[in-house]
Parts: sequence; structure tokens; C-alpha cells
Amino acid sequence: MVGHMTDAPIRAHVAVIGGGIAGLTAALQAAKSGARVTLLEGSADVGGKLRVSEIAGLPVDEGAEAMLARRPEGLELVRELGLADAVAYPGTTSAAIWSRGALHDMPSGHIMGVPADLVALARSRVLSAAGLARVPLDLVRPVTPRGEDVSVAGLIGARVGEEVVDRLVEPLLGGVYAGRAEDLSFEATMPGLADASRARRSLITAARAVRDAAPANAGPVFSTLTAGLGTLAQALAARLVELDVTVRTEAMVRELRRTPEGWRLTVGPTREPEVLDADAVIIAAPARAARRLLQEEVPVASAELGGIEYASMAIVTLAYSGTAFPEPPRGSGYLVPAVESSGVKAVTFSTTKWPHLIDGAPGMVVIRCSIGRYGEEQLLQRSDDELKAMAMTELARTTGVIELPVDVRVTRWGGALPQYSVGHLDRIARIRAAVAGVPGLALCGAAYDGIGIPACIASARAAAARVQDGLTRRGQSETTGERRL
Ligand SMILES: Cc1cc2nc3c(=O)[nH]c(=O)nc-3n(C[C@H](O)[C@H](O)[C@H](O)COP(=O)(O)OP(=O)(O)OC[C@H]3O[C@@H](n4cnc5c(N)ncnc54)[C@H](O)[C@@H]3O)c2cc1C
Repeated sequence: MVGHMTDAPIRAHVAVIGGGIAGLTAALQAAKSGARVTLLEGSADVGGKLRVSEIAGLPVDEGAEAMLARRPEGLELVRELGLADAVAYPGTTSAAIWSRGALHDMPSGHIMGVPADLVALARSRVLSAAGLARVPLDLVRPVTPRGEDVSVAGLIGARVGEEVVDRLVEPLLGGVYAGRAEDLSFEATMPGLADASRARRSLITAARAVRDAAPANAGPVFSTLTAGLGTLAQALAARLVELDVTVRTEAMVRELRRTPEGWRLTVGPTREPEVLDADAVIIAAPARAARRLLQEEVPVASAELGGIEYASMAIVTLAYSGTAFPEPPRGSGYLVPAVESSGVKAVTFSTTKWPHLIDGAPGMVVIRCSIGRYGEEQLLQRSDDELKAMAMTELARTTGVIELPVDVRVTRWGGALPQYSVGHLDRIARIRAAVAGVPGLALCGAAYDGIGIPACIASARAAAARVQDGLTRRGQSETTGERRL
């Protein structure tokens, strides 16, 4: 334990709960600050939503596949782990949207589906004539009153019409949150546009301001790793082992209690519980797990965590021979609005988007279909065969492929994506305030300040820094003989 009056300083013990990107990064940061670290992952593997496996002999991600390259944290970590040579960028950025019975190129010049360029929107033919005519009313309508927060559909629908919400904004947000525009928070999911639109009456003008403020030639928006983004988790775990971090899998943490010295964790199955003591704890598990763990000791945070809902989804990955298609799939893929969906909400043409994938297997076409949005849990009760059939039917409709794939993989992600619903930012502020009063505790991961990989890395670094600060202060007060609060 920290601060004991012995000659050799005893390193503080930090327990990290959850081995996704957030937990792995928090453990790395804590170990680099000199702590003794134990990482406890409930499942059989670390990585969480980062996982890669082979399909038709090619390494294709089962979960997250693209990392925002315009935030620094992801690429910084990649470089720190010596993976800079493995960074790959998309071969194409053009994407499409299925609307009114056909695929249309995504109009250029939009901010998360909110049009900044009305000519490009008209040319794309994504909206009906009536929907298109409704859009410019935004330029003349009086201010839309909005309080602290408003739903994405509420504000955007009022400004530019429901068709923009249904056929552009919701499908794009669906790619990130698998959520519904009427539930998601405008402030939390579109912070840039929310800021810009506060000072402006027109949302189109706000979207233009955001577009014009973006740096020109800022480089690719996304990146990945050649053997799959999942290898980032594997490389992190290997680095942790080098740093003497104890990395444990199948170590589900079931209970967390405060002790006079720090924390006591109960780990493993109910019949053979194991007790582990730590000076500080970082919870990097999803909100549902954090809720259970904090129920006794930080009930206010626990109750708030219970209010964060999750969407479940499945990814069906199909590998075809290239000759199976009347024409090779174009662009990086397409989105399907809920109003037109048969279940598949997004399709990624992986081998077109990431050309490095087929270096070893030219002629192969790999496609990922995402199935399921928030509130569509019944879809995921279908069997693997039914999900495969759903994906194949979708691809037959849009690409004309009728041959069977050479390989298919179904990945189910139950409780995968936190829903940043209206009031999310205030909820997170209340959780942070409740946790701030508790020494040796920090939370991080996708539930809080951003669900993408770079945001999770940032939240993990902040959590490790918070715990380290607390331990340093505690060490100082114990050596000066002050009592710990
Ligand atoms: C299909 C899919 C595609 C995605 N695509 C992208 C993308 O392309 N780009 C992007 O940036 N983001 C993407 N995301 C989002 C991103 O992957 C996640 O938000 C992020 O990886 C979450 O990391 P995390 O560490 O917070 O949580 P997780 O990855 O969920 O890790 C949490 C870990 O905690 C463990 N755990 C839970 N309870 C306990 C317990 N009691 N004790 C011990 N361990 C526990 C879990 O087993 C899990 O391993 C995608 C997500 C999904 C599901």
C-alpha cells in the first residue's frame, strides 16, 4: 500500500476493471506512472469491441475497423506501440445512401447529414421533391427555441425538415451510435454543430460555418491497421506484459467495496470468489457493469449510470469471389435509412474501402453488413442463418450478387453502443461530480465523453491521471502524518 514508512517506497496498486481499449490504455498509463497494475477482464480475451479474425484467410475486424485520424490520440498510441508502419488509410471516401428505391452518392458538403451545400443535396436525389423544397425554409424561419438540450430529430427536423433527419442524419448517426434521432442528444452527438448553431438562426448557415472552419487538406479522416484495428488491442496487451502489468482474463469483477486503505474487489464466480485489494480502481467497463459495481459505495453515480441505454447489433461479414458481382462494388459502402430498412442498416465494402486487405488475395470481395439499431433487439434474436440470409438478400438487392459467398461470419455485439440520449452531458457531469468526492476511483470508456477509439483513449488517460494525482496527494499527506479524508 502507498505511503508506508519503510526504506524502499512501496508502489501503489491500481486495479483496472475492463480490458477494452479504455482499460488497456488506462493500465498502460498507470504502469508508466510507476504504479503496480492489475488489469481484470471478464471475458476470455482483452480488446472489447476491438477484435479481428480471419475470413477467407484475410484479417477482417469484427468490431471497430476505422479510427478517426483527425484526433491525435489514436495515431499517437499506434506510434508509441511501434505500429506506425502498419497504419493504412481508406482507398476511397465516397459513400452512398439507399433512398427511395435506389443507391445515391452521399451529397458533398454536409455536417453529419445537415446540408451545407443545397445544390449538392439536390443533385444527390436522396430527398423527394417535397423534402428538398422544405430544406431552405430554414434560412427564413424564426429561431427554434431550445433549452439545455434537444433531440437530434427535434432540432434538425424543425429547421430543415424530417426527410433530412430520416434519410441523411439518422443513417449517419446510426453508423456511430446505432441510435434513433428522436432519442439522441444534439449537444452530445454533434457538439460542433450545436455550438455553431447557438449563435445562428439558420442551421444551414451553422453547417456552412463548421464546414468552412475545417482545415483544408487535413489528410485522411480515418485510418486502420493492416492486420486489423483489433491488433491495436493485442499490441497494447503485449506492451502491458512487458511493463509487468498483470493482465487477467476471465476475471469478472463482481463487487467493489471501500476499505480504510483503498478498495476491495471481489473477482470471479460466486462459488469461488477471490478477493483483491487495491489502492485505486479505474472502472473501464460499460455503464451497466459500472452501475452494479458502484451500487453500494457511490449510489448516486450508480443510479445515473443505470440511465445510460445501449444498442445491440450484429455484423455479418461475407467474402465473395469478385466474379460473383455483375459490376465490382463501388465506394466504401452505403447506409440504409430506418424508413427503408429490411434490417441491414449499413454496408461496408471492406476490400474497396481498405485496398491493403486484398494484397494477399486479389479478386476477393469482403463486405460487412451491420444489423440492428437501438430498439430493434428482436432482430438479433434471429439465428445466425437468418442473419446471413438477411445480409445476402440485402446485397442481392443493391449489388446484384446472387452467388453464395465463399465464407461468412456472424458477430453479435450485445449491449454494444451507449446511447448519448437527450441530457447526456448533464448526466455525465452528475456522474463525474459524484465520483470526484471518492478517493482512488475513476471511470473511463465509451459511455462518457465520446464513443470512438480516440475519445476512449483520451478518457482512459484522464482517468489514469486522476487516480495518479490522488495517489500522489495521499502519499504526501501520509508522509506528513495527515489523516486521509
Ligand atoms: C460493431 C462495432 C463497430 C464499431 N466501429 C467503430 C469504428 O469503426 N471506429 C471507432 O472509433 N469506434 C467504433 N466502435 C465503437 C468503439 O469500438 C467502442 O466504443 C470502444 O471500443 C469501446 O471501448 P471501451 O474500452 O470503452 O469498452 P469495451 O470495448 O466494451 O470494453 C469493456 C470491457 O470490459 C469488460 N467487462 C465488462 N464488465 C466487466 C467486469 N465486471 N469485470 C471485468 N471486465 C468487465 C468487457 O468484457 C469488455 O472487454 C464500434 C463499436 C462496435 C460495437
